[in-house]
Amino acid sequence: MATQTLSRKADFPGLVTAEGEPWHYLDTAATAQKPRAVIDAMSRALGEDYATVHRGVYSRSAQMTLGYEAARRRVADFVGAESENEIVFVRGATEAINLVAMTWGLTQIGEGDRIVLSMLEHHSNIVPWQLLAARTGAVIDVCPLTDDGQIDLDALENLLSPRTKLVSLAHVSNVLGSVLDARRAADLAHSVGAKLLLDGCQSAPRMDLDLPALGCDFYAFSGHKLYGPTGIGVLWAREELLDAMPPYHGGGAMIESVTFEKSTYAPPPQRFEAGTPMITEAIALHAAIDYVDALGPDKLFAHEADLAKQLRDELRTLNSVRLFGPEESAGIVSFEIEGVHPHDLGTILDEENVAIRAGHHCAQPLMAHLGVPATARASFGLYSDESDIAALMRGIERTQRIFG
Ligand code: PMP
Repeated sequence: MATQTLSRKADFPGLVTAEGEPWHYLDTAATAQKPRAVIDAMSRALGEDYATVHRGVYSRSAQMTLGYEAARRRVADFVGAESENEIVFVRGATEAINLVAMTWGLTQIGEGDRIVLSMLEHHSNIVPWQLLAARTGAVIDVCPLTDDGQIDLDALENLLSPRTKLVSLAHVSNVLGSVLDARRAADLAHSVGAKLLLDGCQSAPRMDLDLPALGCDFYAFSGHKLYGPTGIGVLWAREELLDAMPPYHGGGAMIESVTFEKSTYAPPPQRFEAGTPMITEAIALHAAIDYVDALGPDKLFAHEADLAKQLRDELRTLNSVRLFGPEESAGIVSFEIEGVHPHDLGTILDEENVAIRAGHHCAQPLMAHLGVPATARASFGLYSDESDIAALMRGIERTQRIFG
């Protein structure tokens, strides 16, 4: 069975408690645990291999530069980019989206132009556009969801107009696990001359990606959700878009020449990577991608979707459980137990060595739409298996007994 063959708990030192008990980690949508291969790569990069990149004349620095640029090529290959110049290393998805808003957005979006988001977006795919709208006078349109919590692409079609310059949507929802039909969203956006940005935070760790084929124009993700370290993420954009974008941050490494009269800027991706970059993080991200790719991203999706379905079926056997989101989803399940606040549930589950997320998941507009202040969320990773579902169900049953 897929779930047994994929679960790789032994590779992940984070999956045990301080007492050496199994830790049932069901918060992978927030951040993934790291395999030993990533920890070792990071440790080597910080230790015996460590030096700066791009400027050292000594061999260690030249080696480190090769490692950093090899990571960029590895990411390019992983997402199906046509060139590694389309890969900009940033701090995370949040920074990637802010970068697009403050460079492409400030030059391409003006007063009265429209930006379409959806009801299920993460705050990091809402607030940067509000900041841009405040500076430009652009207007944000919100695409509604279908009854089962998917972005309603028929409604998107009706929202679009020649004034729409950007459609920016989650490829996979971090709350509901809904998977966007990205190709159709891209075709719709392009039919009015708009660009499509995909927030890939939850798709990069579990889907086989070919971004040019998906048809999006920008794609953002965070390394820490892809089994890599924190502090690194990726913005992918078509080369011609990056070429036309002004710098984001100014500083070292992003210039061609500097005088007090005028500075000229390096071509992408260096133009967007001011300062000493995330060297060790990029190298560890390379190791994470090698790890995930060896397992097969399409298998990861099937494995986690299968666990999500099992969990939904088990939750349905209990009394007073409300399930959110579509039946067919990526490995993310949001739910509510009647009469139990998600935080109380999370606290009791913690006593059972089960870690779930309880809260608004940085998606307050979605919570308002669902009519709840918070949900409980269990999210699976490549290391999850039936033992995690069993522990969660035991914990929920105990919680229900406590709350009568
Ligand atoms: N978008 C989605 C869908 C997410 O799940 C997250 C992280 N929860 C983000 C954006 C933001 O990612 P980060 O905090 O790593 O920048």
